[in-house]
Amino acid sequence: MLQQDILNLTRKQFAQWLNDRGIAPYRADQVFKWIFLRQADSFGEMTDISKQVRGMLADHFTIGRLKTAGTRRSSDGTVKYLFELSDREHIESVLIPEDDHYTLCISTQVGCAQGCAFCLTAGIGFKRNLTTAEITAQIRDVKKDLGDKGKLTNIVLMGMGEPLANYKNVINSLATITDGDYGLQFSTRKVTLSTSGLVPMLERLGHDTTINLAVSLNATENRTRDILMPINRKFPIESLLDACRRYPLSNRRKITFEYILIKGVNDSVEDAKRLARLLRPIKSKINLIPFNEHQGCGFRRPAKERIELFREILQKQGYTVITRLSKGADISAACGQLAANIKNYNEKGQSPVIQEGVSSAQRADADERFQ
Ligand code: SAH
Ligand code: SF4
Repeated sequence: MLQQDILNLTRKQFAQWLNDRGIAPYRADQVFKWIFLRQADSFGEMTDISKQVRGMLADHFTIGRLKTAGTRRSSDGTVKYLFELSDREHIESVLIPEDDHYTLCISTQVGCAQGCAFCLTAGIGFKRNLTTAEITAQIRDVKKDLGDKGKLTNIVLMGMGEPLANYKNVINSLATITDGDYGLQFSTRKVTLSTSGLVPMLERLGHDTTINLAVSLNATENRTRDILMPINRKFPIESLLDACRRYPLSNRRKITFEYILIKGVNDSVEDAKRLARLLRPIKSKINLIPFNEHQGCGFRRPAKERIELFREILQKQGYTVITRLSKGADISAACGQLAANIKNYNEKGQSPVIQEGVSSAQRADADERFQ
């Protein structure tokens, strides 16, 4: 019998599947509770379900785990996981320690088709979309690994791939991620999807979810953005920002605009002023990301003073601006450095030891904040 990974289904879809076979749909709640709250690996463990139903479920479904092919641990406590998929492709997820919780950055595709000039993932090209199960499993598996050593409360879809180019699977996975009763129980306020700006999909997202939106703007003029992000030739800055202006935002929420600062490319005083003007009609906050350098890319990070000046101009215009050097740069786990290169892992197959808490000295070391 052809089995499928139960993580590919939302709880609602699974309840329907059961109902179609004459099994009470509330069994879906029980099964999901076992899988996501109790980290069960087999139907045999689900002792509050009859043996007969358990046997039938085991005939039809597997409960997917990803194979951890390696992990790397940064001096700042960031852990990068290399996962091997069933077809031997690889993806990365990054667990980032914050003050009193962890944030997990997950991937949505193997590689990426968008071809942004500054991004290492772009160099892999596009291999394939992740399944719903593969997206969700990154969180379930890392949560298990973390155990009771810390609280994983925030999810960012900012790893490898363009989430809106894998729309259906991302939306299905979000249903389980934000299923507050029997799923992974993340608050929609703590889940953020980052996109390069696929405008039609972005419009759909606003209707289908209430998670946070982040948009990688990265330039203030079309001629620069055309070069940095080829998607801009299809959906130029005006159409992207127009969609953002119309994006439905619940109370007090804002769209985060990510802006990589690249020396001599998009970091001028004029750029800062233009950015402030462009975002004026939108409820927004700005995340400045000094470019993370990587081999084979000629772009450079601007000097600290330049970054500081850029931030000041925006702040004087009333914007909330966060400038940060990404964590995990020493293990190539920072924004735009994910390439799932197995050679770069030295603890192959081992589970990382996650310490309880990270010292503030360690944190200050790696997460230099300019605000
Ligand atoms: N595809 C989505 C999400 C993944 S990329 C997107 O583009 O938004 C996540 C973030 O990393 C984006 O804001 C992107 O602009 C940023 N990024 C990519 N390469 C980078 C680099 N080398 N340095 C700093 N940020 C980078
Ligand atoms: Fe893809 Fe995002 Fe990288 Fe662009 S920045 S290539 S959209 S992952």
